Amino acid sequence: MSATTGEWAARYDADLMKTFGTPPLLLDHGQGAWVWDADGNAYLDFLAGIAVNALGHAHPALIAAISAQAEKLVHVSNLFASLPQLELARTLKRLAGTGDEGRVFFANSGTEANEAAFKLARLNRGDDGRKTRILALNGGFHGRTMGALALTGKAYLRAPFEPMPGGVEYLDATIDALESAVDDTVAALFVEPLQGEAGVVELPEGFLAEARRITARHGALLIVDEVQTGVGRTGEWFGFQHSGITPDAITLAKGLAGGVPIGALVTFGAAGELLGRGQHGSTFGGNPLATAAALAVVGEIEASDLVANARARGAELRRVVTGLGSPLIAGLSGAGLLIGVKLTAPVAEAVVASAREHGLIINATGPDRLRLAPPLIIGEAEVREFRDRFAASLAAVSSDADRAEVTA
Ligand SMILES: *Cc1c(COP(=O)(O)O)cnc(C)c1O
Repeated sequence: MSATTGEWAARYDADLMKTFGTPPLLLDHGQGAWVWDADGNAYLDFLAGIAVNALGHAHPALIAAISAQAEKLVHVSNLFASLPQLELARTLKRLAGTGDEGRVFFANSGTEANEAAFKLARLNRGDDGRKTRILALNGGFHGRTMGALALTGKAYLRAPFEPMPGGVEYLDATIDALESAVDDTVAALFVEPLQGEAGVVELPEGFLAEARRITARHGALLIVDEVQTGVGRTGEWFGFQHSGITPDAITLAKGLAGGVPIGALVTFGAAGELLGRGQHGSTFGGNPLATAAALAVVGEIEASDLVANARARGAELRRVVTGLGSPLIAGLSGAGLLIGVKLTAPVAEAVVASAREHGLIINATGPDRLRLAPPLIIGEAEVREFRDRFAASLAAVSSDADRAEVTA
């Protein structure tokens, strides 16, 4: 089926729920940082399935792990244990630095990892049962199921689905707001190290450290949503590690298994004792296929030091984007290979479309914000390819805007 004829798009519109709108491309296969559509057009993939394809496409280590595991066991349910699951839990504890007390619950997505964290937070009631408030940040995003949506600090996403699960309050990411909101009635604070869906928005300097100090003082859990920032993306294994704090829990998903659905809640210290037997569950969560895939991804990130690569390539990308000197670029945010590009005009969608025509996939997180989240495996060659294609994409949009001004 052709990638550019309307045929598949008509089928999409007829058969799929309207949640996502009609996609612009029908993709067929990928290799490394490249994907091809059904007409054979190549695209440099600087979105990586929304920060998911950490090893890019068709990585031999991931193919081998998935194939080998599929030949043994795909799924056993949580009525049974499997070695990849045990191995991954231990590996995540080591990388996150939980110490021996750490515990892991496996789910199938980011929203599910946050649902588990939400239940954990509810159980942190305190001796007198007074801890019923849960705090989250304005602009934050934690997922689409009802609990994770309740944590999401975007009223327009929640509004159609009210009433929400109760007890969640939203604050601005300021230390003052924290100081006045957190007391002994707070069970938990949810925070992303970088607000990915908001446009890779950074927390104020020192915010996480203060959040840790204030929540600890009041016995509230600090739960860090690392669904997008985790697993090497920001140039550390996890985003919280830039600030040197120890959270009570982190949630993971996107990049963890390189595209095989998985989610995880990882606890530190006593928080791991909160969820007891029979209080949460998942049929698929932590199955041998998903955990074997995650082990391959994490193993390859360690073996090839892709965390350092994320730092190095990220710094290079920032230099490259700044060096373009485009009048459309207002500034950059983010860390490692999670980069937000703030534009001087609300033309993000036009830039994304233009990029596609120049064989480059990026996405818009808002009218004037672009997100770059390439696979962690990119090298200097991909950065150069990106520079040329991105420069041409921006130039095309600028000259369109100039023409519009002349004719207006
Ligand atoms: C993507 C994302 C989620 C939701 O993950 P899904 O796998 O889409 O359910 C939650 N939190 C953050 C920070 C995310 O970026």
